[in-house]
Amino acid sequence: MIAYIGNDSGVIIGIPAAGSCDFKLIMANNFKPLVDWNQIELLLLDMDGTLLDLHFDNHFWLEHVPRRYAEMHDLPPEAAREQLLARYQRIEGTLEWYCVDHWSRELGLDIAVLKAEVEHLISVHPHVVDFLQAMRAQGKRIVLVTNAHQKSLELKLQRTRLGGYLDAAVCAHDLGLPKEMPQFWEKLQEVEPFDPQRTLFVDDSPSVLASASAYGIRWLLRVLKPDTRAPARDADGFPAIHDFSELLPLGKHLR
Ligand SMILES: [Mg+2]
Repeated sequence: MIAYIGNDSGVIIGIPAAGSCDFKLIMANNFKPLVDWNQIELLLLDMDGTLLDLHFDNHFWLEHVPRRYAEMHDLPPEAAREQLLARYQRIEGTLEWYCVDHWSRELGLDIAVLKAEVEHLISVHPHVVDFLQAMRAQGKRIVLVTNAHQKSLELKLQRTRLGGYLDAAVCAHDLGLPKEMPQFWEKLQEVEPFDPQRTLFVDDSPSVLASASAYGIRWLLRVLKPDTRAPARDADGFPAIHDFSELLPLGKHLR
């Protein structure tokens, strides 16, 4: 028997009968299933904004880098910020935009060192560890799939200790394409063979989700609150969650 509860996103979550740990369905307002866990054998999970709080990245690129850049060029902080935002926007969504080495060269700053200066801000989103544990208990394969540069991935896994919950981590820089390109998923098949019909992909970026959808990944979820200190975003037509408590069996997130 499955009972239903609502949450503030209007999503209805299927929960098991008391005593059962086998949760089956998550339902949307129109009562079509968002996720049928029985159909899922692989989880592909984004890192920044999905498993981890995007506050670190937003603070780093919008506050910390402009501060250091302003110091280096003796610029007013606002002017430095404006210049940098324009430069970010020019290559947004490309592999270079995510590349630590690219920005180190472009800006004359050691981006990896700067990240280490504010690494205390790196944090795991609420309920992620419970979710990963629940998925492992269900026997799902869990693979991190990120556009982040290898140096960022290394720093974040070291800081958060999430590596122990993952079966693998795939870095877009190793494949030579960002997730925004539908061809990325073909490349991913070469290192992580998967059945798109039996795969759930969770990400906070609508352009990345659109690319996964174009490739044919059947189960998609958008994280609506990638930065815990910023307002929630619109779902943009994707099935969505605010946080991972919405994917947990009843009671787990109420502890
Ligand atoms: Mg992301």
